[in-house]
Amino acid sequence: MQSESTDIEQIILSVLECPVCMEYMRPPIILCVNGHNICHTCRRKLDDCPTCRKRFLSTRCVGLEKVAREFKYPCTYQQFGCKEVFAHDKLDEHQAECLYRQLTCPAARCSPHIQCDWTGNYSEARNHLMENHLEMCSDYGETESRSFLALCFHGWYNKFVFIYD
Ligand SMILES: [Zn+2]
Ligand SMILES: [Zn+2]
Ligand SMILES: [Zn+2]
Ligand SMILES: [Zn+2]
Repeated sequence: MQSESTDIEQIILSVLECPVCMEYMRPPIILCVNGHNICHTCRRKLDDCPTCRKRFLSTRCVGLEKVAREFKYPCTYQQFGCKEVFAHDKLDEHQAECLYRQLTCPAARCSPHIQCDWTGNYSEARNHLMENHLEMCSDYGETESRSFLALCFHGWYNKFVFIYD
């Protein structure tokens, strides 16, 4: 039973995958005249269907949207280690705060004089800052749910970076 439900999940995921951006489609899901699906974000960028080059319909794919509404979507940062799943309307909220989302170097964002190509997640950010930009790390603190590192640039605290443990 366990493996059967996993198979169905895999099939649903493959059906929900947008052929253009490879993200999982969420309502509204758009149809072309030949029945191909595309996500609404990609629909805005394209004049015709990327699969058959025919036009899109203004009709939405109600059946697939129904499946999508019931479906639990994996977080887009799955490849970086996030194991959480969410209903389609809760996903954006999580992804904006996901601990595994990829950040650019907080020190480089803070100061125009720092060139740094680092990217990584929250838990890696603290080590990166401590090891590479220690001169800018001015304060470290913790609240109930998060810890923070204050970055100081030319004597001005111009950014607080919240780093989860
Ligand atoms: Zn798309
Ligand atoms: Zn098509
Ligand atoms: Zn996540
Ligand atoms: Zn850096």
